[in-house]
Amino acid sequence: MAERPGFLGRLRATLARTREALSARIDDLLAGPLDETFFSELEEALIQADVGAGLSAEIAGRLRGQTSGVRTADDLRARLAAIVTELLGVPHALRLDPPPAVIMILGVNGSGKTTTIGKLAHRLRGDGRRVLIAAGDTFRAAAIEQLEIWGERVGAPVIRHKEGADPAAVVFDAAQAALARRADVLLVDTAGRLHTKVNLMEELKKVDRVVARALPDAPVERLLVIDATTGQNGLAQARHFHQAVGLTGLVLTKLDGTAKGGIAIAVVRELNVPIAYVGTGEGLDDLDAFDPSAFARALVEP
Ligand code: GDP
Repeated sequence: MAERPGFLGRLRATLARTREALSARIDDLLAGPLDETFFSELEEALIQADVGAGLSAEIAGRLRGQTSGVRTADDLRARLAAIVTELLGVPHALRLDPPPAVIMILGVNGSGKTTTIGKLAHRLRGDGRRVLIAAGDTFRAAAIEQLEIWGERVGAPVIRHKEGADPAAVVFDAAQAALARRADVLLVDTAGRLHTKVNLMEELKKVDRVVARALPDAPVERLLVIDATTGQNGLAQARHFHQAVGLTGLVLTKLDGTAKGGIAIAVVRELNVPIAYVGTGEGLDDLDAFDPSAFARALVEP
């Protein structure tokens, strides 16, 4: 079997279009002086990479203030990468001790929650942890079935009720099962239907309260799954989830698709919540711990 390329290699392939656009622009622009035109065109290139208008202006402005000593395109790229790395924040390690830890997986339907739960369960199992999954999206029968398929694949039992059941009841049962079976991690799937946003947020808060009551000593992660190909639209949704439950981390999925990586910088800045993982495909192993510096380099290096 061919060896999988590392995080950086995979990201470089994933973000090729954005990187080439940014990088080629920087090369072109550097043929001329580092003047107003250069910085406004760099700003434009960042906007096209999904960084968002305000933040693109800020990054271009910061770079403008750091040009002394810059001789080559590589010098400039290194400074740009340093600025982007800083904006991407620190790596986020999940809090899993003392067990059982709870990881709530939140996000709108289609963002990649089910797939992320499967990948994350696989990863945690690989670390030798006992994993249990709660099928908390009772709104969609298909979601429960998909979760069971993933659970079987990765060797993690799924606690489920019937379609239409109270998600809080499922999660309560799963919490009891986690204690009884001495699970290390309880992964909780949640609903993500958008057309009843108010009810959805109330439901998520209720699930969160049930977790706190059933497992008062458990560390709880609340990870929002964001489809990176939705660009700036994903941001407004992310804000709602953050207001409702207080996110502890983000998972950016589908970075292998048509995503432009700049959205990563925008979400961290917008929510002030770190990215824990990125999804780079539909396979079991296509989930990587997020590395801000590698990500920044994959964006701006040639
Ligand atoms: P959910 O509705 O939030 O549970 O989303 P799913 O997990 O069912 O994912 C929706 C679709 O996105 C499925 O077709 C997944 O295979 C796909 N998907 C999820 N994560 C990734 C990823 O990182 N890369 C790619 N290419 N597809 C993904």
